[in-house]
Amino acid sequence: MTDLERLRHSAAHVLAAAIAKLWPDAQFAGGPPVDDGFYYDVDLKHRISPEDFPAIEAEMKKIVKENQVFEKQVVNREQAIADAQAGRLAALGNREVASKFKLEMLKDIPEGEPISYFKTGDFVDLCAGPHVMRTGNVGAFKLTSVASAYYKGDEKNPQLQRIYGTAFKNKTQMDEYFTMLEEAKKRDHRKIGAEMGLYVMDTEYVGPGLPLWLPKGTVIVEELEKLAKETEFAAGYVRVKTPHLAKEKLYKTSGHLPYYAESMFPPMELLEGEEEKRREELEAEFVGLGKEHAEILGLGQKERADRLAEIAARHKVIGEQIEKLGERYYLKAMNCPHHHRVFAAEPHSYRDLPLRLAEYGTCYRYEQSGELFGLMRVRSLNMNDAHIYCTPEQFAQEFNAVNEMYLKYFKIFGFDKYQMRFSTSAPEGLGKKYVDEPALWKQTEDMVRDVLVSSGINFVEVANEAAFYGPKIDVQVWSAIGREFTIATNQVDFAVPKRFGLTYRDKDNTDKTPLCIHRAPLGTHERFIGFLIEHYAGNFPLWLAPEQVRVITLGTEEPLLNYAKDVVTQLRAQQVRAEGDYGTDPMKAKIANAETAKVHTMLVIGGRDMEAGNVSVRLHGKGNVGAKPKAEVIAGILQAIKERQA
Ligand SMILES: [Zn+2]
Ligand SMILES: [Zn+2]
Repeated sequence: MTDLERLRHSAAHVLAAAIAKLWPDAQFAGGPPVDDGFYYDVDLKHRISPEDFPAIEAEMKKIVKENQVFEKQVVNREQAIADAQAGRLAALGNREVASKFKLEMLKDIPEGEPISYFKTGDFVDLCAGPHVMRTGNVGAFKLTSVASAYYKGDEKNPQLQRIYGTAFKNKTQMDEYFTMLEEAKKRDHRKIGAEMGLYVMDTEYVGPGLPLWLPKGTVIVEELEKLAKETEFAAGYVRVKTPHLAKEKLYKTSGHLPYYAESMFPPMELLEGEEEKRREELEAEFVGLGKEHAEILGLGQKERADRLAEIAARHKVIGEQIEKLGERYYLKAMNCPHHHRVFAAEPHSYRDLPLRLAEYGTCYRYEQSGELFGLMRVRSLNMNDAHIYCTPEQFAQEFNAVNEMYLKYFKIFGFDKYQMRFSTSAPEGLGKKYVDEPALWKQTEDMVRDVLVSSGINFVEVANEAAFYGPKIDVQVWSAIGREFTIATNQVDFAVPKRFGLTYRDKDNTDKTPLCIHRAPLGTHERFIGFLIEHYAGNFPLWLAPEQVRVITLGTEEPLLNYAKDVVTQLRAQQVRAEGDYGTDPMKAKIANAETAKVHTMLVIGGRDMEAGNVSVRLHGKGNVGAKPKAEVIAGILQAIKERQA
């Protein structure tokens, strides 16, 4: 947890204490910090609405003013269960009804792990921490919204009220945040995306979360791909192309199945003729086994054990038979497994490494419909993906080169503020949350840390947030208006290449497993373009602008039109996205149209310009910059595009 997250999570405690004061029967579930603040899930008969916020905030203010200490108390499991049953957890005192969600959370805490309470005043909550020292450290806070959420995100569970808020060190920072939100509303990528005709969501025919890129949006997509391809080529990457789906076996090997199954689209069963019938029969047998299993629960212990073993054996046989029937295919949720098979397709020696396989791969993820959000949360994503297979000796250099690539991109897009969030493992999670390879964790984490420190890049280290198979780095950038986005993730993977049996022949003639770096500096087109729309407020730099140049004529005489059309032809011959507006509308209207369409450069041409061999240049949002010779202007445009000037 960062300091700000710690503060915000502490504010969630204050929120819960305030709600408990107002509605003592409230049942609380979880209250974590989130991107822009915090929330607490509460089960309560009264439907909390924004009209209740002033009253809740007033209670919160009292608690902050009292400057209560966050007092930690370690308890044993029996005590905790007794307290939960007495309704004492996430409450101000004992109650008639048990603290039901806390009771369930207790069951989820593994045996042997410490159980702790945090007390502020009379409010006691089950929590591992960390928190700020005192409630007074929550400098400024505000409740922002209320939504419904299923307990543990599962539709089968009861629906809770999720109260969102945000908190800051002081009021100045909070005011800045809300000003920024106002500005962000004006720059909403969904609004600007529609106005500029960049993409649509055709939920009726295509599906929610599956954007259709319109011609103008596709221009941006392709410019980004071009940038990535050029940059990666220069850095020694090679490109591959892989299908959008694969057999179940691939994802079982990678571990996506079963662990990531929830985020994948359901499988496609490819069964032929008799196979379908046979599968139904086998599945019916499965159901039969389940019934038998239920029946034997009443038997004596010895008999039960024998029958259980017999059922397990039959279960296994049926499972194997089902597996042999036809095939299951899945849409890919990540590109890595395909790339691993590309690596495996040919033998490799240490001389071939590092091998950097790049692909703008399309992935499909089954996000819950409630989670979908414009381009930011979608179900089909085009990822600026690459996997770098290298030896441990090559790691530092490769990892550093990836960081350099990020910095290069940040400069092009004018991201002045960024941070690398380095997530490491935690010893207690080994074998559970993390692959049980203590030596490899230490080695790779040390390597990553060394590179980050020696490169002088801005980073924070956060323990216990790594990926299952290795440390990761989330790259956070701030848009022009100061809003933070996680744009991409780098991961170091020392486990999955082993599961795929990937090897290279080393100098000493033995086969070794390569390390794999997953990196996607430009993230996905969807998220990155969503971010760029906000960052630029839709006013894209010349190289990215869907319509780069519009030639506007002042008059309709034939020679003038020919002169203007020639400018357009010359620009288009050089791949510049130039259009002409030769109509009879007054100049003012033509310029207004071009400004609305956010055309980057307008070339206004009248009789006098033509006679002098000039064009008058006007920049979107900046106005007239004067007349210049035609050839000079065209050369300037080409240069700016080539250099991807901001
Ligand atoms: Zn807490
Ligand atoms: Zn990957």
